[in-house]
Amino acid sequence: MRVARFRAADNTIAFGVFDEAENGEGEELVELVADPLVAGYETTGRRFSLDEVTLLAPVIPRSKVVCIGKNYLDHVAEMQERGMGGEAPKEPLLFLKPNTAVIGPDDAIVRPSLSNQVEFEGELAIVIGALAKEVPEERALEVVFGFTCGNDVTARDLQYADGQWARAKGFDTFCPLGPVIETDLDLSDLAIETRVNGEVKQRSSTAHLIHSIPKLVAHASQAFTLLPGDVILTGTPEGVGALEPGDVVEVEVEGIGVLRNPVR
Ligand code: MG
Repeated sequence: MRVARFRAADNTIAFGVFDEAENGEGEELVELVADPLVAGYETTGRRFSLDEVTLLAPVIPRSKVVCIGKNYLDHVAEMQERGMGGEAPKEPLLFLKPNTAVIGPDDAIVRPSLSNQVEFEGELAIVIGALAKEVPEERALEVVFGFTCGNDVTARDLQYADGQWARAKGFDTFCPLGPVIETDLDLSDLAIETRVNGEVKQRSSTAHLIHSIPKLVAHASQAFTLLPGDVILTGTPEGVGALEPGDVVEVEVEGIGVLRNPVR
């Protein structure tokens, strides 16, 4: 099932699931009574064509966005070449973004005046569906609601300068999420691609993750209580690079869709 959060023409905000359009042409959104993370899939009966709604970030993390650093071998190698050294971590490397960094599809990534080097990092994002603390790896998928696309936008110059990553990765607009949450995905080999102005910059597969999705959820839940609506960004593959004003960046994960954001 694919879940969206959207704004209708009358400015109301609602959740919906995609369904075949009643006129047989493409898909439309069936409105849900409330947030499916807490209220399930009861529908109001109202249906919306996709051209009369604006898709929003499909989830606003209740408490945090947990991020994983260096979780693709090819990206570890490129960061070594750029002097941000280190081997692939034996255990997943965790950091946080504030939930105030989250934006949705087509929202602008705003380059802060403090940075001259803002970069994209296309990533698969996990959406947590249940309260979880110290969940074992074998049961980790039970607390996952679904998956979306994410962009771990980073002020690379401030990441070097600060020595830790809170500011460099935590600016407002630095966590685009969307366009939808897919609740049923085979995670073993999903293509992940990042494009800037249509040019492919990153192309990899979830088959190349160093630490698996269940391992990441289990590991994060050893440190933090995960709440429904929290998000885990699973790390970026090789090919990270600059975003300039006027660029359009797209993160596409197979089976989910395309997360597109302009830069200003
Ligand atoms: Mg990242």
